[in-house]
Amino acid sequence: MSQKVVAYVVTEALVKASSLLPSNKGRSFLVHTLASALGFFDKSRGYSNILVFRPSPASRSDLCLYHDTDYMILIFTLANQEALLSSRAPNDASSFGLEDDCSFFEGLQQYCVLVAGATLSAVKVLKHVDISIVWDGGRHHAGKSRASGYCYINDVNLGILSLRQLKPRPRVMYIDLDLHYPNGVADAFQTQTAQTASVLILSIHHASAGFYPASPNALLPAAGTPHLHTLSIPLAQGATNATFHRIWKSCVQPVKEAFCPEFIIVQCGVDGLAGDPCGVFNWGLDLNDEGSLGWCVNECLSWELRTVLLGGGGYNSANAARAWAYLTSIACGSPLTLGDPIPDHPNFPQYGPSFTMEVDVGSFSD
Ligand SMILES: [Zn+2]
Repeated sequence: MSQKVVAYVVTEALVKASSLLPSNKGRSFLVHTLASALGFFDKSRGYSNILVFRPSPASRSDLCLYHDTDYMILIFTLANQEALLSSRAPNDASSFGLEDDCSFFEGLQQYCVLVAGATLSAVKVLKHVDISIVWDGGRHHAGKSRASGYCYINDVNLGILSLRQLKPRPRVMYIDLDLHYPNGVADAFQTQTAQTASVLILSIHHASAGFYPASPNALLPAAGTPHLHTLSIPLAQGATNATFHRIWKSCVQPVKEAFCPEFIIVQCGVDGLAGDPCGVFNWGLDLNDEGSLGWCVNECLSWELRTVLLGGGGYNSANAARAWAYLTSIACGSPLTLGDPIPDHPNFPQYGPSFTMEVDVGSFSD
């Protein structure tokens, strides 16, 4: 396994802001403290090819590379709960999706500029490194002017669009491994314009009646659909490594070869892993098992293209921390062993009862 240079994009402010996200409270803190406890940021422990890259927050004009100005103005104006509850704001908030699963929270504005800034910085740093990692990114449901599915800002689209500003415009392939269909990303690139041309979106996810997000595009495209640039591979409940392996060999690999991308962005949402409260897939992590999440990400890295790895869903926070630490070790070319114990650190009690890196595979049928 060749040693690549890896940028791990994080700051304390980003961890603090992401840890306030109502759908994943405290998760960011677990993720980055485990990474630190495993020694990723300590050259004396053998990780000489990973560097911590401190991102700049996104400016309002950075955010408007994808998002509508009115939506951004609202995000920047909603500095507190009182503003939301004032006479005019509730209507605004609801028309921009800031309700239910995307309610306002203290720190929302800071969260948006930091997460967007992290992914934009991860894209920029690819000039100097092979792989960049933003485990707080991957917010693939947010729309141009609408929060949706726990996502307030679409850092994925910002990252892709900023890559497309390079001259000459590169070919970008986005692979989404989250349990949920990336409606916010697919909607942005469904219509091909000069800015969105040569971007290929490929998602492997679950789709069924009533499962979020309800989108006809989450289903298999009809045969003969012309000019397809958003490819959907919906899987039924219970998908295992074997299913992912079959899809990878018969579809993902040939599509990549036909498209010839110059950059890869992989959304590594971990809500399809066994043990996630979503309880839909039965997907494993171990690189040694063909078709697992670790194996799929390693396949992407074996293409030897500049790659951004993003986070995403994942509602068992300890397993998300395990999985993303494991994927970080794969990116560094020194994969951890999943049977290894969790190192002693202040969050150690959260990794019981196994206290190992292992994410146990469930037993429901594929
Ligand atoms: Zn998800």
